Amino acid sequence: MGRNVGLVWDSTFLEHDAGYGHPERPERLIAIREVMTERNLWERMTKVPTREATVEEITRNHEPSYVQTVLNSRGELNTFFDGDTQASPKTAEAALLASGGAIDLALAVYHGDLDMGFSLGRPPGHHAERTHAMGFCYFNHIAVTARALAEEEGLERILLVDWDVHHGNGTQHVFEEDPRFAFFSVHQGNFYPGTGAIHEIGRGEGTGYTLNLPLKPAMDDDDYRYCFQKVVMPFARQYKPQMILLSAGYDSHHQDPLGAMNVTAEGFGGMATDLCELAEELCDGKLVAFLEGGYDLEGLSTSVGTTMEVMLGDDVSVSGDANNAGTRVRQDCQRLAERLEGHWSFDLDN
Ligand SMILES: [Zn+2]
Repeated sequence: MGRNVGLVWDSTFLEHDAGYGHPERPERLIAIREVMTERNLWERMTKVPTREATVEEITRNHEPSYVQTVLNSRGELNTFFDGDTQASPKTAEAALLASGGAIDLALAVYHGDLDMGFSLGRPPGHHAERTHAMGFCYFNHIAVTARALAEEEGLERILLVDWDVHHGNGTQHVFEEDPRFAFFSVHQGNFYPGTGAIHEIGRGEGTGYTLNLPLKPAMDDDDYRYCFQKVVMPFARQYKPQMILLSAGYDSHHQDPLGAMNVTAEGFGGMATDLCELAEELCDGKLVAFLEGGYDLEGLSTSVGTTMEVMLGDDVSVSGDANNAGTRVRQDCQRLAERLEGHWSFDLDN
C-alpha cells in the first residue's frame, strides 16, 4: 500500500540568491526536481499550496525585532545578516512561503489528510536562532512548524530528528528547556556551528530531551543505521511522540563538498526506512521532512529522491547494517547512553 505524501514546492524558492558562488544555490532545487521527474515522483506527490507564514506564526519562534529585520530586507538588493548569510530581494518572501507551506503540510499530515510530507523549502532553516539568521538560514521552518502543532493542535510530544551533517543549533536552542519537544541530532563533531556536544542534553524541565551524537568523520551507512536503530528508535519508543519532524540535510553524503561523511543515497533511504517504521509504530505514520543542507547536486538530488520513494512506500533498495557498524560509532553511542542514564535506557550490547 502506497502512502499519500504531500510536497511543498514554490518557484519563489528559486529566487533566494545567497550570493555569487554560494553553495546554497537554486540549482539544488532544480536538480531535485529533475530527479523527481525522472523517477515519476513529482506527479505522485500531493502538492500543498504555499502561503506566507504570518508574523504571528513566525514570532512564536523568533524575536519580533529580528523578524522585522528580515521583512525589511524585502526588495533590498543585499542585506547582510552573517558572514555566509546574505539576503536578496526575494529572500524574505521565499522564507515566509517555506514556513507557511511547511505549517500547512504538517497540519494536513496531523489531521490525516496526508500520510506523510516533504517540504522543499528554501532557504533552509535549522541554523536560524531565535534572534538572528545564521548558516544560510533565516526562519527555522521545522521549529516554526513544531510551534504551530503545539500551539494550534495542543501536541505535547513532538520528536525532531536532524541528520544534516551540521548540528541543528537553532532547533536545539529554542526547545532545550521544553519537554514537549524532543530533539535528536547526529552530526559531524568539531565542525560548524561548534555546538551539539554529547553533554548538551537539555536544560531545566527539558533535561534529557535533547540528544546529541557528534560523530568522527567518515562514518558510513552502517554507522548511521546503528545510531538510528540503537539510539533514535529506542529513545522514541520511550518518549512516544505524537508526530515526527525531520531536518533532512544531505551534506553527510559522501560526495558533499562541505561534510566529511560517507553516507550514500541508499543509506539515507535506510535512515528514512527506520523513521517511517518508527512513525507507523508510534504515531500513525505522521512524519514530515524539511530540506536543510546538501551541496553536491547529484548526491543531494538522488538522496532526496530515495527518501521520497521510501516515504511513498516504494520497494527501493536501501543500505546500512547496524551489525556492521564500526567501533568508533559504538563508543560514541555508548557515551551518549551513559550521559542519559536515569532519563532513558538503551541496550547497546550486540
Ligand atoms: Zn548542513
